[in-house]
Amino acid sequence: MTEPAVQPAVAADAQPGSAADAQHDFAADAQRHRRDAPRHCPRCGASLLGGAGISVEFWQGADRIFHTWCSACRWTGDIIPTIEMTGHEPEHG
Ligand SMILES: [Zn+2]
Repeated sequence: MTEPAVQPAVAADAQPGSAADAQHDFAADAQRHRRDAPRHCPRCGASLLGGAGISVEFWQGADRIFHTWCSACRWTGDIIPTIEMTGHEPEHG
């Protein structure tokens, strides 16, 4: 009679202290947030700084999403920075 195989209950990258955990750099995330967070409302152009608006960052898959609110015009929406723009113009020919 053999012992049953033991399967890990939790993925290795979910355990504290794993290599994946050590590679996550929260200071770099905070720096990227300060660099990339919207500073102005996309609708009215008012500043979002100093409590005039809110831009909260979260992740959805590989996308960084800034859920943003403007106190001046009450616009609320998600701003997703893009790395590569895909055009929709027809081919010439
Ligand atoms: Zn606005």
